[in-house]
Amino acid sequence: MRAKAMGNQQDRQARTAVITGSTSGIGLGIARALAANGCNIVLNSFTDNPQDHALARKIATDHGVDAVYMRADMAAPEACRDLVERAVAHFGRLDVLVNNAGIQHVASVEDFPVDRWNTILAINLSSAFHTIAAAVPYMKQAGRGRIVNIASAHGLRASPFKSAYVAAKHGVVGLTKTVALELAETGITCNAVCPGYVLTPLVEAQIPDQMKVHDMDRETVIREVILAKQPTREFVTIEELGGLVVFLCSEHAAQMTGTALPMDGGWTAQ
Ligand code: NAD
Repeated sequence: MRAKAMGNQQDRQARTAVITGSTSGIGLGIARALAANGCNIVLNSFTDNPQDHALARKIATDHGVDAVYMRADMAAPEACRDLVERAVAHFGRLDVLVNNAGIQHVASVEDFPVDRWNTILAINLSSAFHTIAAAVPYMKQAGRGRIVNIASAHGLRASPFKSAYVAAKHGVVGLTKTVALELAETGITCNAVCPGYVLTPLVEAQIPDQMKVHDMDRETVIREVILAKQPTREFVTIEELGGLVVFLCSEHAAQMTGTALPMDGGWTAQ
């Protein structure tokens, strides 16, 4: 109703989506899915390489939208807020914010390096607080908006040796619920997506170590170790996650807010 009531020129312009940590894996897939849905795109990572800008140009030509790459280190609060400001300055509007940047480190709690703990909390949790804080005034002004936080099945369940990651992802789910309640009457929704295992560089990097630790071949490690908690014994795909995010960003999801949606092959059904 709110979006329909606007019915002004802004409605007919393409929406703008900012996706943090989107030069690879899930974030890149979500950027592609939103571009295929007609959104202009801000790609982001902490690097500034020619290939980062080339990725944005490829999305633009593949989908007939505008796409730009903006460097911003999601470990740095000011850079998170500045990314939102630069996106609005460039496109004149911000409709969709996807907080996706994330890293992992695996160690027992007593050996967990303090700098890794702090960095994981900064990138996986605090960056979402900063981008949301910067984005909400623009979304309120427009009378609508979509915030999607990429949490994890580890936002709902724990695994040993992932204390920082599990703490950060549970935090993302809590942040999502709080923001949803604060914004409930504004036309802005805030939801978390909780994927099970997806075969991205983040997971690929864990396979060689697990092969050594368990003395198993690649296929056995994937099935018996990585996907042990995922009853379908299949990876979630980037395309499936892209489809869910596109739905959450649609008008049909206007009454979905404050949710933590698993897409995890049955992991959290257990
Ligand atoms: P990935 O390593 O493929 O991609 C991570 C992206 O974040 C990259 O583009 C990287 O450049 C960017 N990034 C890293 N540090 C950054 C920083 N300081 N500032 C800005 N960008 C930074 O990882 P992925 O598997 O695609 O993970 C994406 C998100 O999905 C993460 O939040 C992760 O926790 C979550 N997730 C992944 C899985 C999985 O199985 N792969 C499962 C559940 C949740």
